[in-house]
Parts: sequence; C-alpha cells; structure tokens
Amino acid sequence: MLNDDVVEVGSGVYLVAGSSTNWVIVKDGDTATLVDTGYPRDRERLLASLTAVGVAPGALAAVLITHAHNDHMGAAEHLRRAHGTRVLMHRAELAHARREFLHQVSVGQVLANGWRPGVLPWAVHALRAGGTAHIPVVEPQPFPGEDVLDVPGHPVPVPTPGHTDGHCAYHLPDAGILITGDALVSGHPTSRRRGPQLLPRMFHRDRGRALDSLTALEELTAEVLLPGHGPAVHLNAVAAVAHARDLAAREDRSAGAP
Ligand SMILES: [Zn+2]
Ligand SMILES: [Zn+2]
Repeated sequence: MLNDDVVEVGSGVYLVAGSSTNWVIVKDGDTATLVDTGYPRDRERLLASLTAVGVAPGALAAVLITHAHNDHMGAAEHLRRAHGTRVLMHRAELAHARREFLHQVSVGQVLANGWRPGVLPWAVHALRAGGTAHIPVVEPQPFPGEDVLDVPGHPVPVPTPGHTDGHCAYHLPDAGILITGDALVSGHPTSRRRGPQLLPRMFHRDRGRALDSLTALEELTAEVLLPGHGPAVHLNAVAAVAHARDLAAREDRSAGAP
C-alpha cells in the first residue's frame, strides 16, 4: 500500500518526498537501488517508503548518493552500518562524504540571507531535521567502472559538478528518467520560482560550474526528471534545462551581475 509521499513515476521507479528532500527507489523484484536518503531525521520515513514498495532495507543492492549534503546523505551511514549496504558516489565526492571538509551553506550565509522569503522557516526545519548533524559515511565507495552501474535500473552516473565538487546525477536510459539531485531542482522552500531551476545562489559551491553542468543533463534522453527538491518534472531534458537557464539569466539580471 503506497502512501501519498511515494509516487511511482515509471515502472518500478518511485519518487519519495521526504521532509524537504526527495529520494528515489528503483526496484527490481525484491531488491532495489536507492538514490539519496533524505535528512538524518527522515530515516523512519525512508524505511517506511522501502516497506511501502516491498523492499527490505537489507535487500538494497546499493545506495547511490548525488552529493554529500546532510539532506541527501542523512541515513546512508545507518544503512551501511546496519545492513552492510554499499554507498556509492562520484570519486570527487568521497572525501566530502567522509567529512574531511564540509561544503555546505553555513549558518552565517543563511542568516545573511534571512531577509529573503522562506529562508528562516527553511533554516528552522533544516536544523530540526539534522541539517547540521555530523554524520560522515565512514567508507563511501567510488563507482566500480566508468559507465553503467550493475544495480537495479542500470543507472548511468552523470558527473554534474558545481553544486558540490563531486555532484553526480543518475540517468536511467531504459526508463527515460533522469535523477538530477541538486544539479537541477523544481522548487525549494527558499525559492518563489516554479519549474526546473538551479537552487538559490547561496547553496552552491560554484554556481558558474553548476550552470555549465546543465549541458551534461540536456544531452540525455529523458522524459521525466526527478529532482532533489520539488515535484517530478514531466519535460524532456532539453526543455527543462532551457527553463533553468532562462530563470538563472533573469536572476543574474535582477542581481545586476554581468
Ligand atoms: Zn545540496
Ligand atoms: Zn538538497
């Protein structure tokens, strides 16, 4: 029995809405690939979503991480420790996941942006949900090869640096689905814009690089995009990226940037 937060967007592909971050379950029989895990305090919700689609946490083939922010990686170490689940990510994100450093919006940056609509309520939620908790993944693993991963859904990693240095999207070519993480979102509590877009400026490690990475997404064949924040996008990748670029250019103009 599915609950309202678990939406089947393709055959065996489920988009799950956590407290403010999405994760994706790609099922194959009684096993599955999990992409991202929500905030640390989303753990019960995450486990409930696996139950809802009939996958035991111990039966997960792997957890794929788009990037090592707490709202995406919050339960990864729990799954690794409790069930020995492999936690895979782009090589350039490994040290971040081990928390050898943290490239995440700081409390100071959030306060400096506190006048913007939605920022303070979002910050209160982020703190309560474990946004600043220190929960490294002790043994994150790089992808074993360069191309398609041998786990349910046969996802293909798509390096999309910028939001973080090792951010990675995942393409499901067979399903025509693209999991974009925070490289492309469709909404956020701190944004009044709708549709495909970049996250607000303060969230990116390198916004210029994040904009450049949209090129890697638009080359892929996909009819549905599953972002890290906001609802599923029922557009092809070219149209979604064009929309995001347009919004980014408008934001630059209103900020007086070149
Ligand atoms: Zn992020
Ligand atoms: Zn995020």
